[in-house]
Amino acid sequence: VNSKVGFIGLGNMGGPMAQNLMKKGHSIIVYDISSSSVEELVGSGASSAESPRAVAAQVDLLISMLPNSANVMECYTGAEGVLKEVKPGTLLLDSSTIAPDVSKQVAKFAAEKGAVFMDCPVSGGVNASKDGTLTFMVGGPANEFVAANELLSCMGKNIVHCGDVGTGQAAKICNNMLLAISMIGTAETMNLGIRLGLDPKLLAGILNSSSGRCWSSDVYNPVPGVMEGVPSSNNYEGGFGSALMAKDLGLAQDAATNSMTPTPLGSLAHQLYRMMQTSGYSKKDFSSVFQFLQPDQK
Ligand code: NAD
Repeated sequence: VNSKVGFIGLGNMGGPMAQNLMKKGHSIIVYDISSSSVEELVGSGASSAESPRAVAAQVDLLISMLPNSANVMECYTGAEGVLKEVKPGTLLLDSSTIAPDVSKQVAKFAAEKGAVFMDCPVSGGVNASKDGTLTFMVGGPANEFVAANELLSCMGKNIVHCGDVGTGQAAKICNNMLLAISMIGTAETMNLGIRLGLDPKLLAGILNSSSGRCWSSDVYNPVPGVMEGVPSSNNYEGGFGSALMAKDLGLAQDAATNSMTPTPLGSLAHQLYRMMQTSGYSKKDFSSVFQFLQPDQK
């Protein structure tokens, strides 16, 4: 430990991940376009730099956690980007959920500078980010996985090498497509049962000990009052925003189109989450699809 690590993107996920790196003894150099996020980390002992390029000049290891593909492109290949000043041999780990093809492209540009770029998107959400229990899905050269694993273990408990660069993103968007489909299925099922006169808690209990059980029904039930400590019981605040789910479903549909893969339910899920973006649900947790589908609660 005690090596210098660069960290770019200090939002809901990146902020707590950077804190965990410091708790494990790493000194870090941070950058974010939001100065308040930078100040928070500096207040906890991090140093800061004025651009991604300036971070890259000072480190051999760098992590990024940004919203989307365009932000990652800008951060690495822009005029003040990481690749303008990256040192040969630097390991670049991107944990953002973005298009697999963008990960592959950035990896190619990084290789031209003698650096190694790996995609390492995460699953687990804000609580797992704070607790250091994230799952990382890693794509990139097998001989670099040991070094990546060592650093990512400071922030997660399950680090999986998926294959070549881009395969981490592939695993992530497949998971989120299934999650969206199962959440919509749980929401419409619960709604039907309630309208047929069933008590929601009783129905959830039956589903969760029957063949309809899934993570969305069992761990993250979308009906207010069925479970404690989930966004549905907190006015759908916190958690995983429906706008980010709409983005991930778009990535899955792009990948399905490019690979000629039929994904009828993924496509329908994408459209439903896009409709939610223009109906006042964009900032709510993705389980608010239950409310969106409830005809008498508008
Ligand atoms: P966020 O919006 O809270 O944080 C993003 C941060 O990046 C912000 O601080 C923003 O200022 C900064 N930023 C944006 N563009 C930048 C740039 N060009 N250079 C430097 N900084 C920039 O988002 P989040 O919830 O932390 O999510 C980050 C990524 O992780 C997304 O791809 C998301 O899909 C994924 N993810 C989120 C969750 C979750 O539960 N929130 C779970 C798994 C994966």
